[in-house]
Amino acid sequence: MADATTHVDFIRAIINEDNKSGKHGGRVHTRFPPEPNGYLHIGHAKSICLNFGIAQDYGGKCNLRFDDTNPSKEDQEYVDSIIEDVRWLGFDWADRMYFASDYFEKIHDYAVQLIEKGKAYVDDLTAEQISSYRGTGEQIKQGDKIVSLPGRDSPHRNRSVAENLDLFKRMRAGEFPDGSKTLRAKGDMAHPNIYMRDPVMYRIMRAEHHRTGNTWCIYPTYDWTHGLCDSIEGITHSICTLEFEIHRPLYDWFLIALGVYRPQQIEFARLNLTYTVLSKRYLLELVTAGLVRGWDDPRMPTISGLRRRGFTPEAMRAFCKLIGVSKTESTVDVQLLEHCVREDLNKRCPRAMGVIRPLKVVLENYPEGQTEEFEAANNPEDPAAGTRKLPFSRELYIEQDDFMENPPKGFFRLAPGREVRLRAAYFIKCREALKDPATGRPCELRCTYDPATRGGDAPDKRKVKATLHWVSAAHSIPAEVRLYDYLFSKANPYDLPAGGSYKDNLNPKSLEVLTGCRLEPSLKGAAPGTRYQFERLGYFCVDKDSSAERLVFNRTVTLKDPWAKAQKK
Ligand code: ATP
Ligand code: MG
Repeated sequence: MADATTHVDFIRAIINEDNKSGKHGGRVHTRFPPEPNGYLHIGHAKSICLNFGIAQDYGGKCNLRFDDTNPSKEDQEYVDSIIEDVRWLGFDWADRMYFASDYFEKIHDYAVQLIEKGKAYVDDLTAEQISSYRGTGEQIKQGDKIVSLPGRDSPHRNRSVAENLDLFKRMRAGEFPDGSKTLRAKGDMAHPNIYMRDPVMYRIMRAEHHRTGNTWCIYPTYDWTHGLCDSIEGITHSICTLEFEIHRPLYDWFLIALGVYRPQQIEFARLNLTYTVLSKRYLLELVTAGLVRGWDDPRMPTISGLRRRGFTPEAMRAFCKLIGVSKTESTVDVQLLEHCVREDLNKRCPRAMGVIRPLKVVLENYPEGQTEEFEAANNPEDPAAGTRKLPFSRELYIEQDDFMENPPKGFFRLAPGREVRLRAAYFIKCREALKDPATGRPCELRCTYDPATRGGDAPDKRKVKATLHWVSAAHSIPAEVRLYDYLFSKANPYDLPAGGSYKDNLNPKSLEVLTGCRLEPSLKGAAPGTRYQFERLGYFCVDKDSSAERLVFNRTVTLKDPWAKAQKK
């Protein structure tokens, strides 16, 4: 299993206390409970690292459990993707992969028990009626006390146990139309917490389930199911996000009413990231509306998107460790995530020369037809990574950005009359720029090289102010490179004028596709997923769209680290 968080956060503090007092017999057993209604995102990664990490730290166990109680939105495709993503992140549930749907029969039997105890009843109210009877729980002043406005009892609340058992049986048998009846717990219609006001346990819904098919036409609700699954699996600490804090009394109530083992629910603050939406509902919308190229679009905050973009599981785990776990909602700067991937890729990525916006350079004094090779380190941070050969010839490509006809103050790269170093090769000096007659822009630089500077240093110790990356025109291979920017143009994508949609905040320039890029020949045939640092440009990863004839690269992240810089200040 992968390394995970080991520092003590408030959740580990609770577990330490429980272990001291002998609660749960000193066991630690957590679970990660995704609903298979979408692909996992970086917020889920936080929950995965937390749940699996805690199990690891305490020599306990962590289950992977699919919360599949809502068949209309769930799918096997999502189940498969979740399995792949959790594994890729580096975690292992051994033989403990479960599905809430595996317990449907058991959960049903528990419902019958609750009816028999007089604690659940079949209701004929519609969903709208239920919600209007329930009220809003609005708080009012009564004398000198603040009370919340009570709800109203359903007219069917006092059905006999026998009648409830009969109706529930017939609900299951499919005698009633969808939505016409529900099974509700007999909570307290005056409870200040409206989740305690006779919560729905079952609804009638004829939907084919991706695992149970058409076996069921009644499906249990989240609140009724979740605690039971935890209890059945012997989970000790049921860790969830803060929005479930208000559900905790109900979580406890069901398990106490049934007299079964009761895990401890603990809530933590979900991850929010700047320039990012982390809600499956919105992410699904982006996919179905075609606003991105699928769930694994490298701009998506999904685990599959980040993987395709070139992120490593190590970087994602380091990020989750760094952000920690707390009870207070906050928004993490997306630059921190980028910082984590940069740190990791810097250690592991071989260097390569890639020119993404090529500008041709002709060395007028370099013999036609001559080729030579330079030896370059694959990773200056890791001598063990070895070296590779870089072919050099009379015609080269450099980056368009590395030349200016009329350089302003502060621009130290190539310009007419100026000398620069080509990394690991020679000093070159620009004589003149030929212009494309159509655009007026430089299309070819006529330069000379100094043979005495072979290897990149001048024997007379003269200095140049810039070192450029380059490829030999004839030897280089073509590629497409995809550059990514944030999917949203606002740090808070939900910051909207009244009536606006978060989609209005989509960044129209989040994807830039460059064709005609030229790469050093050693990259030929690189397999999808292979990562490189293109010198001076950033970290890049071979995309699955690549073929033998045409490489496609994603830029994972640039080299500049604004987060680290801000920390230094
Ligand atoms: P979404 O709100 O994106 O639809 P969800 O909570 O409905 O997410 P689930 O599949 O139910 O998605 O989530 C599985 C687990 O991951 C839950 O325990 C949930 O609390 C946790 N989780 C979901 N989003 C985040 C997040 N942004 N940060 C941390 N944990 C999260
Ligand atoms: Mg959920």
